[in-house]
Amino acid sequence: MGMRKKSDLPTKMCEVCKRPFTWRKKWEKVWNEVKYCSDRCRSQRSAKQEASL
Ligand SMILES: [Zn+2]
Repeated sequence: MGMRKKSDLPTKMCEVCKRPFTWRKKWEKVWNEVKYCSDRCRSQRSAKQEASL
């Protein structure tokens, strides 16, 4: 009891694939703005937006 892990990283849910993803070093400065687990999901999202316009 009372144990804490150093690797207690924050997580978010990807808006495209709806799966949780974990904080990564490359996002340390933009974590608040990260919405997608990967570039692939981000490009899918933008492709959908363009198609719906
Ligand atoms: Zn995703």
